[in-house]
Amino acid sequence: MIIHLNKSIEQAKAEELGRNYEAICMHNGVQYVLVTSSKVKEADANIRSHAEAVFVTDTDIQLASKQYISDTRTIDLGVVGIGGSTNNTVVITGPCSVESEEQIEQAAMLCVELGVKVLRAGAYKPRTSPYTFQGLGLEGLKLLDKMRSKYGLKIITEVRDSTHVDEVIEYADIIQVGAKAMYDQGILRKCGKSKKAVLIKRGFGSTLQEFVQSAEFVLSSGNPDVMLCERGIRTFETKTRFTLDLCGVAWLKQYTNLPVILDPSHAIGYAYGVADLSRACVAMGVDGLLIETHPNPKVAKSDAEQQLNFDQFRALHKSIAAVAAAVGKKIV
Ligand code: PEP
Ligand code: MN
Repeated sequence: MIIHLNKSIEQAKAEELGRNYEAICMHNGVQYVLVTSSKVKEADANIRSHAEAVFVTDTDIQLASKQYISDTRTIDLGVVGIGGSTNNTVVITGPCSVESEEQIEQAAMLCVELGVKVLRAGAYKPRTSPYTFQGLGLEGLKLLDKMRSKYGLKIITEVRDSTHVDEVIEYADIIQVGAKAMYDQGILRKCGKSKKAVLIKRGFGSTLQEFVQSAEFVLSSGNPDVMLCERGIRTFETKTRFTLDLCGVAWLKQYTNLPVILDPSHAIGYAYGVADLSRACVAMGVDGLLIETHPNPKVAKSDAEQQLNFDQFRALHKSIAAVAAAVGKKIV
């Protein structure tokens, strides 16, 4: 249950009411809000006398639920809006990892050429093996920062673990919480205290309920700017890297108020299928697409097989405009 307290109620009183209700007490920019366990279905007379509005939800998908906010949230990045009433399908592209200044600058220039506003690349890579390229770390973040200033792009980069979460929060415009970090509540709570937008990738063995509950950790820590990214889940199939769960996407759109971004690159794991999958994703009317591109995928230091070269990406980008238009969306 979510309780919007009267605007006149101050912090100390709100926290006292929260303690009595075993609720999380947060501020939504307008008033204090209490969030109880979803098992609590009724507000008693005492709390009602302090409440402006009460929302009852079925499960612990609460702040992210359409039962609470019936429209998709809008995330305003300045140069571009994501979700809500924008009708945008925001394209996010760039390499898996920042590898060098030359490489990331080529990716930034591709974004400028095509009017893409958000550049992606990891500096702290959550690799499956400790013996492979782990990312350039702080040096990578500084190169991304340079691209932001030089080309006016927004930057999304991932946080791998709690050792560098503050650094990533400082340098990113959108903090990416990777599939393997989705359960790290230290990271999630820190993102919740930040003013930066957060994109959470679905763990490849996570249910939709668990996925959205990760977002609840960020939302209930006070950050309303959260988006969800479906990037493929593990199934019995081994021919593709993962299985893109488009049914799950339909469910997220139906039941949550968070913008949904799709990542076909990590889902299939091979460049050949990324364009077809991207068109399928855009046809679902999603809020964004995240696609890995590299100036020379063959020599990429991570995820080489799935990254598109720039000509492949140009062709894909051209082809999705009509698909977006057919479902009332615009590629940005
Ligand atoms: C990535 O975006 O490069 C990445 C490692 O993603 P994921 O966390 O989905 O595996
Ligand atoms: Mn990658």
